[in-house]
Amino acid sequence: MANLLEGKTALILGVANRWSLAWAIAQAFHREGARLALTYQGDRQREVVRELGRELGALVLSCDVTQDSELERLAADLRAAGGGLDAIVHSIAFAQREDLSRPFLETSRSGYLVAQEVSASSLVAVARALVPLMSGGGSLTTLTYLGSIRVVPNYNVMGVAKAALEASVRYLANELGPQGVRVNAISAGPVKTASARGIKDFSKMLEGVAERAPLRRNTEPGEVADTAVFLASELGRGVTGNILFVDAGFQLLGM
Ligand code: NAP
Repeated sequence: MANLLEGKTALILGVANRWSLAWAIAQAFHREGARLALTYQGDRQREVVRELGRELGALVLSCDVTQDSELERLAADLRAAGGGLDAIVHSIAFAQREDLSRPFLETSRSGYLVAQEVSASSLVAVARALVPLMSGGGSLTTLTYLGSIRVVPNYNVMGVAKAALEASVRYLANELGPQGVRVNAISAGPVKTASARGIKDFSKMLEGVAERAPLRRNTEPGEVADTAVFLASELGRGVTGNILFVDAGFQLLGM
């Protein structure tokens, strides 16, 4: 089969390191022939992400998605580097560590708001700033988790943010559909990454999934990445406004 993303240009936001889901997605997009731009947040990650970007011949830019000015600069930099985008992957989330371990009832107003701002409303800001670069239509994909629709111990405020993110996917899909832009989320099973390690008892989540999921194992980053390829490619052309589970089937369990 020909490369699924040959001739396409993709922007992937949220690479922090080799364990990031965004990095697995970047590798899969590269394998399928996409031209890539990656973003990282702040100086702390700069050298690591530049090094990763070199491996894939990717343009590497910084962007804090809570700052409209940074999103505008990102759009200008991408235009200057040659223009259009066919795919955007938003692989970004943040909540204060204490809100991922104490009772949900104890969530502070500021903790609630920061989780919403970074993890949910940033998708809308990203779409507003960057969809104008998708003149020929395209695909916007974000990453979510089952804690949006089920109570998962310690996921707490992030579950509420993911619920808002998934609703945002539906509203954006409806508004951007007429211009040929599809918007979807991948609901990934737990994967050990820097963000995931912030959730109290995360290793117990991994054990529970491996014991009970229909496939009796955890999710591989590559499985999430291949689904992102599908969504960004012509194969996904009829899919928009969806939450696709890539979780070894865990979401279907009731008991
Ligand atoms: P990760 O490697 O820690 O990625 C999270 C990324 O978000 C990091 O690159 C982080 O940058 C970035 N970020 C946070 N605040 C930002 C901001 N203001 N501006 C720009 N970037 C910002 O962890 P991950 O697990 O791959 O997470 C990626 C996505 O997958 C998240 O939406 C997460 O909720 C979702 N997801 C993960 C799992 C899982 O089990 N791992 C399961 C389902 C869904 P810094 O490191 O510089 O802060």
